[in-house]
Order: sequence, then structure tokens, then C-alpha cells
Amino acid sequence: MSEASDNRTEYEIFAIRYGTNARRVRGQNFILETQPDEPQVLDFYYWVLKSGESVIVVDTGMHPDKAERHGHGILLHPVEALRHLGVAPEGVETVILTHAHYDHIGHLDAFPKAQFFMQAREMAYVTGPWMEKPWFRRAYEPDEIARLVHLLHAGRLALHGLDRTIADGVSVHWVGGHCDGQEIVRVRTARGWVVLASDALHYYEEYERGVPFAVAFNLSDMIAAHDRIRELADSDDHVIPAHDPRIAAFYPAAGPGLEDRVVRVDLAPASSTESR
Ligand SMILES: [Zn+2]
Repeated sequence: MSEASDNRTEYEIFAIRYGTNARRVRGQNFILETQPDEPQVLDFYYWVLKSGESVIVVDTGMHPDKAERHGHGILLHPVEALRHLGVAPEGVETVILTHAHYDHIGHLDAFPKAQFFMQAREMAYVTGPWMEKPWFRRAYEPDEIARLVHLLHAGRLALHGLDRTIADGVSVHWVGGHCDGQEIVRVRTARGWVVLASDALHYYEEYERGVPFAVAFNLSDMIAAHDRIRELADSDDHVIPAHDPRIAAFYPAAGPGLEDRVVRVDLAPASSTESR
């Protein structure tokens, strides 16, 4: 909770590592992988931004039923995790949805007062002709898409185009690639501009090697997103992927008992993420 001397809002950013899949192998993550059977853990995060009394939630984590169906483990119930941070979900007024995959929108109903924000392009994508194709619909759950339709018709889902400022110090930016409406979130912190890349980067490795993740709608947009992320973040150490186990290892715990579960990515990493 801090405000810079010139009254620019700065946020604390809590990355919540709520799930994991230790059975994942590299061949599931990377196209043309030379060691496809080598293990590569996939972790699951969502994020909470806090500045004073102001709270913005970025994605909502995965529902345990969907986790089970897709073979992932829940480490910390995403909604219960908020209470560890002193955040009552029923009081949250702003929730950004970076895209509509099941591991990001599993708890919409935990936020009864919230206004949700998402790319208009994502809504068109998940209710349009590409969903006829199993490849493109495989990370969406129709009951959750139906909830988005209900929220839209209740006036609680705002659909934006490309770039939008959500609050002073928080903006969202379309990149596409992973899905048609994938966006990233730029957040002002005491250490500068941090970019929550969400699934524009699952692992740091994509960014470092300039390679796409295997779950893709459009490979050219996915690769171009790396440049957009670099434009918006103060350095590569200010970039936060959505599924990399290294995040919990690099960044300080948000408090006692939260080690390896909730970390502060508005603070500097313990070692440079660029020198791994
Ligand atoms: Zn994801």
C-alpha cells in the first residue's frame, strides 16, 4: 500500500501459486521438443494487486472439479488464498480476466460484487466458429463460458478492445497468440513497471528462447507478444509468466506460512531471472 510522492498509485502484487502438475513433460509444452519425455512441472498462478484499500484481482484460478478432470493438483484453494491476504472476495469490485481458459476463470461466482473486464475479442472467440474445432476449444469449459454470457447480460462484464486503463497504474494490453483474446497486464510498482504476462508466457523459457508454447491459436501473435512484453516492462526481471515454478523460487514470500504459495512480485527477485 503505497502512493508515490507525485500521487501516482503503486501496487503490491501477490502471485498465488494455487496449483501444480508434476506429471507434465516437455513434449506437452513445446513443439518439436528434442526431449519430449523430460519432466517439466507446470504450476498455476493468479494475481492480486493491492494499493491501500484498493484491490484488483487478475484471473480467478481453476475450479477443483476442472483441475481433477484435466489432471492438475490444487495446492491452495484459489478463493481461500485471498483470505490469507486479508481480502474478502465478496467485497472485491474489480476482476480482470486475461483470457477465458478454465484455469483462469474457475471462480467467477466467488466475486458477487465485482465488475469483470475482458477482451471483446476473447468473448467473440469463445462463442464463435473457432469453437467448432476441438484444438481451439480444449482449454475452455462451456459452463464457465455460459457464466460469462450471464455476467455480460447482467452488465457485470465489460468487454474492451486492445488496450484499456483499468485504474491509475493498471492497464491491459491485447497480445493474442495463446488464444485470440489473450491480454497482458501492466502494473506500476515501487520498483517500476511490472508486466503480468499471463499465458502470453507460460515459462520464462519461451521468452528467452523466442519459442511458442504448444497450446496456441496463432503462432505469429504469440511470438510478437514477446516484443510487446519487452516494450511494456521495465526489464526482463519485471516480467511474470503464468505457469513457471521458478516464480515461487525467485520471489519473496508474502508472509510467514505462505512460502512457496504466495509471493510478492512487486519486490525484486532474489536473483536475476535473466541469469538463470
Ligand atoms: Zn493458464
